[in-house]
Amino acid sequence: MLAYSIIERKQNGFELSKDELSFFINGFVNSSIPDYQMSALLMAIYFQGMIEKEVSNLIQIIIDSGEHKKFRDEGIYYADKHSTGGVGDKISIILAPLLAATGTIRIPMISGRGLGHSGGTLDKLESIPGFNTQLSMEAFEKQTKEIGCALIGQTENICPADKKLYALRDVTATVRSIPLICGSILSKKIAEGIQGLVLDVKTGSGAFMQTYEDSKKLAENLVKFGNAFGVKTKAHITDMNQPLGQTVGNWLEIEESLEVLQGGGPEDVRKLSLDLSVSIMQMAEPHRKPEDIHSQLVTILDSGQAFDKFCEITKIQGGDTAYLTGKKDMGNATYQMDVIAESNAYISSINNYQLGLDSIQLG
Ligand code: URA
Repeated sequence: MLAYSIIERKQNGFELSKDELSFFINGFVNSSIPDYQMSALLMAIYFQGMIEKEVSNLIQIIIDSGEHKKFRDEGIYYADKHSTGGVGDKISIILAPLLAATGTIRIPMISGRGLGHSGGTLDKLESIPGFNTQLSMEAFEKQTKEIGCALIGQTENICPADKKLYALRDVTATVRSIPLICGSILSKKIAEGIQGLVLDVKTGSGAFMQTYEDSKKLAENLVKFGNAFGVKTKAHITDMNQPLGQTVGNWLEIEESLEVLQGGGPEDVRKLSLDLSVSIMQMAEPHRKPEDIHSQLVTILDSGQAFDKFCEITKIQGGDTAYLTGKKDMGNATYQMDVIAESNAYISSINNYQLGLDSIQLG
């Protein structure tokens, strides 16, 4: 097979076979296909799209590029949540320990780094000194079973194709593509071996899909393919016309997550964390009333149990918990500036996409 001809076929809108896709993606993973040819194919997919069969094949090929799991234990529900990407979106950092603290839900979470203008859970976690997101499959499984949650990224062994494709999409402006987003998100989530998945599909100026119609289309696709791969999948479409909470930036977002994990923090972050967590628990325990689940989760948050669970996860993954408990101080940014309105006013809209790009530029 010739990489050149495969690029040309997709460029002209033809369907690619599983063998062609597999040849290309596995060649890219083992470096026999260079970045420039992979970038060209990504751009062709971006413009020409993919039919259902191609998307299913893409998901399967990315899963098969590494090891995968199937968690099943009596009385335990293995689940996860994934967001399609936004600005100030720190929900995973709250939801994972919150649900793990219930004792009946386990969260084996594989997340990504910042992508395009949007922040990434891994970068946020790694702002905690020592936090290691590159566990082996064995360590990932052991930790999930022992303490109910592990927070890792794609590695050389787990979805390595997504790890490489993700980094390339990030710099080639090929993120906003439904087939590529489905391949990326669902491969990671299916490789985790979970039973249930709740997706937070963002819509608005800070989302990859800026109109409600596009977000709905993405949500429908993610739900269709997730279910087809045997993971019970549900999607929420939520607002991304302004940052979630009051902070944007890796460590700042960890600090804000810690506030929520201790029963405080901004109301929008707390509410969305609870809404998505309730949704996951409803999958696990469909006989229970949502309001009962909600009050159980509120108790876990407000009593500090979710915070304790996050400290436990951080410690076992090598992170220095003294930064979480306030015994050590991260210090302040070297340069700070207040921007004061010249007269009384209200904010009518925020260019959230630009805010995400500004945050990246700040480093
Ligand atoms: N999150 C992912 O993991 N992949 C995408 O493509 C977009 C958001």
